[in-house]
Amino acid sequence: LRNIASQNARLRALISLRDEETVVSELQALDNNSSGDGSRKQPLRGKTVVLKDNICTTWGTTTCASRMLENYKSPYNATIVDQIAAAKAVFLGKANMDEFAMGTDNIHTIYGPPLNPLFPSEAHTTGGSSGGSAAAVAAHMCDIAIGTDTGGSVRLPAAYCGVVGFKPSYGLISRWGVVAFAQSLDTVGIVARDVGAVRTMFHVLNAFDEKDPTSISPALRARLRQRADSLTSPSSSSKFRIGIPSEFNVDSLSPVVKEAWKRTLANLRAAGHELYSVSLPSTVNALPTYYIIAPAEAASNLARYDGVRFGFRSEVDYDTSDPAAAADGVLYGRTRSEGFGTEVRRRILLGNYNLSAGAIVNHYIQAQRVRRLTQLDFDRIFTLDNPLAPSSSSSSDSDVTVDFLVSPCSTDTAPTLDDVLTQKSPLDAYVNDVLTVPASLAGIPAISVPVSAEGGERTVGIQVMGQYGDDERVLGIAEEIM
Ligand code: GLN
Repeated sequence: LRNIASQNARLRALISLRDEETVVSELQALDNNSSGDGSRKQPLRGKTVVLKDNICTTWGTTTCASRMLENYKSPYNATIVDQIAAAKAVFLGKANMDEFAMGTDNIHTIYGPPLNPLFPSEAHTTGGSSGGSAAAVAAHMCDIAIGTDTGGSVRLPAAYCGVVGFKPSYGLISRWGVVAFAQSLDTVGIVARDVGAVRTMFHVLNAFDEKDPTSISPALRARLRQRADSLTSPSSSSKFRIGIPSEFNVDSLSPVVKEAWKRTLANLRAAGHELYSVSLPSTVNALPTYYIIAPAEAASNLARYDGVRFGFRSEVDYDTSDPAAAADGVLYGRTRSEGFGTEVRRRILLGNYNLSAGAIVNHYIQAQRVRRLTQLDFDRIFTLDNPLAPSSSSSSDSDVTVDFLVSPCSTDTAPTLDDVLTQKSPLDAYVNDVLTVPASLAGIPAISVPVSAEGGERTVGIQVMGQYGDDERVLGIAEEIM
């Protein structure tokens, strides 16, 4: 609480705080009533948690950092909020973010961009869209932060802020009560300063939720658990085959990132793991594919903000009895022009264009095909089968198969806010997602861990990816890298 009081005015990591007395009394109640059944039922006992502001809570507001929802109070909690409360964590507040989770530098927010705590003397971006979550963890304002990762939004800010950011396999954590951006990609992610805290939170959240139609079934969960148990049993090998995906060695990688990547791989080899150069040819198309699918889903999801049912409504004055005004959609159009920021409007236009009669076949449908190819690339390269794939197509036909892929998470370290605001186009921001969107399209677990660079002067986010459902081992190798 002291760190929030002293730093949040500058960093803008948190955009709303719970009442301090409530927080203190909740923490004291935990102190006074040290429960006997301890760590099993209350694994987050006394841990402080902040939530990205696209996660619905009955306390405070849920704004998505948008004028559209500036005063919105949710009538219900997201499933994950109840899970975290039941594990006895204490919530501190809601974190800044890119509006509706669309962005890479967290500059699209009505609260002003959060600043990166690693750079106290010059404003650097936190990365986005879960920038407030990563900054809050990095600045020791909380133990654990929850973000969402649709195309990299937990991993990238974690990389920029020097903390751990984990995107689990799609469908393991409930999305019920998490405001939808692109629902076939949206994944709740976890940010903390070490892998252990991420794992504890993951175990709390990894449960079937009947309210989320994309929640993985109990039967498949049982199979995944069985596989995880046998792979992590004491008799199984702890030396792995690690793939270096050549397509991730993009031209724009900065020397500091390249050096940290090489050093990480050398350390893994020295620890007894085997390294293999592998190719995932379809991943070069992942970026355009993502920027067709995600805006298309967003355009559909955001249609609900119509100025009628909830949220912001334009003050525009028009004659409701005039059929021409109604047909022009005066209220709808004005509400959305005034309520959404430029990036959200750009995505809605892009998405509706890609879904329009003239473009859907060449754009949207084609993107779905390429998404499938990206998934097949990963299935080919991983030794483990994909438990979601039909059995005939799941086994690998590749000569070389690996347990994990290790790559950088971003092409560079955090840029200055000034550079982003004055030099970067929206397209530059999209291109920055080139290393994170392949895992999003495939729905596989991916984590960014901080690795020190330039003799400890900077940190670089190194990404580990694994087969669908192999989350436990991804966490294990991430811990080893850190
Ligand atoms: N930067 C990506 C985008 O703007 C990812 C966003 C996210 O993961 N929420 O779409």
